[in-house]
Amino acid sequence: MPEPIVRRSRRRVNERTTRAARFALIALLVTCASPYPGYPGHPEHPGTAVCAETFTLRGDPYPVPARWCGQVIDPASLPSVGDLVRLPADFSFADYGIYLAPRARDAFARMAERAARDGILLRVDSGYRSRSYQTSLLLRRIEEGQDLREVLRVIAPPGYSEHETGRAVDLVPSDPEFAREPAYEWLRRHAGSFGFRESYPLREGADAPWEPWHWSLVSGGAPSRTQPHSRPGQAPTFPVR
Ligand SMILES: [Zn+2]
Repeated sequence: MPEPIVRRSRRRVNERTTRAARFALIALLVTCASPYPGYPGHPEHPGTAVCAETFTLRGDPYPVPARWCGQVIDPASLPSVGDLVRLPADFSFADYGIYLAPRARDAFARMAERAARDGILLRVDSGYRSRSYQTSLLLRRIEEGQDLREVLRVIAPPGYSEHETGRAVDLVPSDPEFAREPAYEWLRRHAGSFGFRESYPLREGADAPWEPWHWSLVSGGAPSRTQPHSRPGQAPTFPVR
């Protein structure tokens, strides 16, 4: 028996409504989904802990992962590029050009000289990083196929890296093996008297990975003996490591 006209038209309306709702849902998912797998909003990883702070990547705002929340770098603590000074080659890894804020450079040099007298070699493979260089580090990892959520466990979002202040150093080897080096034990005992601290120490139950190789001069640390080389044409070339 043919379906009554009223019921048939009601069924069509229902089908159209269902189809429209389905399209709306897909559109919503596409709009909300982060373009990078492994990030909040992406359907595969909806549960990453974030806070209300945001950082920008390729013009898009992203929520900041919990491990970096509250650690945004105060713009007032950013050095001007012309003020940065090069770390002596003796304390730099290979031929890396390492630049730091004058106070950090002086304090580190004093500390490394003292360590050398104790038979400990302190070599830096990363110092000042501009915000754009920090961004390029992130993007490089993503382009290599790593997921943004994992990358952000070990690399700070732009605007959150202590390296942007010119007061942080990564020591060689800049990986977890550094904790087994005599240099690490030496730093734990002596770095404080030169104004340096371990920024991301081992903490039970903490979400932030342990970074034994990363040390920074506490804000307003040791006074500088170095005149910043801010004359025109003297500014170092960036990005640096
Ligand atoms: Zn570092």
